[in-house]
Amino acid sequence: MEPVLRIKDLKTEFFTYAGTVKAVRGVDFNIYPGEAVGIVGESGCGKTVTGLSIMRLITYPPGKIVSGEINLDEIDLLKLSEPEMRKIRGGKISMIFQDPMTSLNPALTIGYQLSESLILHKIISKGEAKKRVIELLNLVRIKSPETVFNQYPHQLSGGMRQRAMIALAISCEPKVIIADEPTTSVDVTIQAQILNLLQDLKSRVNSSIILITHNLAVVAGLCSRIIVMYAGLIIEEGTDTQIFDNPKHPYTWGLLRAVPRIDEQEKERLTTIRGLPPDLLSPPKGCPFALRCSYAMEICFKERPPYFNPEEGHRVMCWLLDKRAQKVERSK
Ligand code: SF4
Repeated sequence: MEPVLRIKDLKTEFFTYAGTVKAVRGVDFNIYPGEAVGIVGESGCGKTVTGLSIMRLITYPPGKIVSGEINLDEIDLLKLSEPEMRKIRGGKISMIFQDPMTSLNPALTIGYQLSESLILHKIISKGEAKKRVIELLNLVRIKSPETVFNQYPHQLSGGMRQRAMIALAISCEPKVIIADEPTTSVDVTIQAQILNLLQDLKSRVNSSIILITHNLAVVAGLCSRIIVMYAGLIIEEGTDTQIFDNPKHPYTWGLLRAVPRIDEQEKERLTTIRGLPPDLLSPPKGCPFALRCSYAMEICFKERPPYFNPEEGHRVMCWLLDKRAQKVERSK
């Protein structure tokens, strides 16, 4: 199967008074039709910047995509003009933000905003728009869609606004939907409902989903492939089984230790990863995780590890997978 989205050697930087922040430092991955992929990592690891770069929403100054390729089907998004890109955004690729007010206009009704998106991308005529918008609001399980149609964003609860934004994102049945921390601004009950909704939409709308989150637990059950980012790099990528049952990178081990598990017999204390990520104004020469890693070897400080492939579809940027390295047990 051909990928719907191909990212090749993407590098995005921010030019600040303090110097150049290398936020994304050469990221490659593919997204296939209809699949859900999780991009996971601590804040500042480059996951949101990767999403915004794909949408071409990095504003200059201070940010700039300095190299790479972003191909949506056969279209190289980095070669498009801004007016051309505006037609793609919302139509072929859309983004759900952490804060719904980022995409919803507070001065316009929900119905107007959704209809406008459908008409703008010529999906539908003006007359048919209302019927389709009500269908969309039903699809994202908004109660009383006819009432919500005429309401403004501030009249809705946080969870309802999130659903309205999801309706907006899926309205034109884009090829790819990027959801950036879609559950962070809502409480735990609504979080579960939003994740269920995304799960349900995955089977109803044939879009691919990129779910960006700092929490590995959020991607469990929804994403069949997981990309772990650290310091602007992909440090591990694999299927959900490879990442949850057989993770290979010490950073992923740390992320998993922070996830509560209901199947654990003993009550374990959840741990955080000690230390802080490196300063991306001057990223380290070797492994970016070396200063926080309990298994760091001499080479880790000198040379950035290449990707090792313990299995098909599983890649890991860690010297522990080099056949010359001493075997270590994963710390749980
Ligand atoms: Fe730790 Fe070295 Fe692997 Fe980096 S390359 S994660 S420092 S063992």
